[in-house]
Amino acid sequence: MAILEILHYPDPRLRKKSEPIPAVTEEVSQFAQDMLETMYSFHGIGLAAPQVDRRIRMLVADCRPKDEAGSRYHLEDATDLEKNVQQPLVLINPEIVKKEGETTYDEGCLSIPSYYETVKRFEYIEVEAFNEKGEKILVKTDGLLAICIQHEIDHLDGKLFIDRLSTIKANRLKAKIKKFGYPDEQDDESEE
Ligand code: ZN
Repeated sequence: MAILEILHYPDPRLRKKSEPIPAVTEEVSQFAQDMLETMYSFHGIGLAAPQVDRRIRMLVADCRPKDEAGSRYHLEDATDLEKNVQQPLVLINPEIVKKEGETTYDEGCLSIPSYYETVKRFEYIEVEAFNEKGEKILVKTDGLLAICIQHEIDHLDGKLFIDRLSTIKANRLKAKIKKFGYPDEQDDESEE
């Protein structure tokens, strides 16, 4: 197991489209475990391979509510559909085959740490994919997990949540990032 380095916006590597994975090999499942470990170590709920500098179509997610201090998502928030999905989830070559409704959520991203903005997504999705054992699976979900999967699939196409904001909101957020940077980088800067 290994904690991988996460690329941060505006790294151009986050903008590349990822390639399908031809076969679920031992190396691929090992990499999925490294991605999960990395995601947990940064308290994330989802992570896509391009965020750790691999242009392959794989994402991991674990949106199970954690009743701990500071958690934005609580046990009573999980929907019945979400509870039926076995998590953590590894999705290889995921394809959304059905999408319905509309919802919004205050999204964040491990590649844009400490910034949040409201994003519109489909409320319900069905996703076909392979799991880490190479088995074909169909995930039917709504709730936070549906939002998270859509966010991570965007990464596989080189898209970030800031691309889904209005130009005004996106520009405001980009200006803030430019001015204040990210939390771990601020330590090196003065208080100004
Ligand atoms: Zn993200």
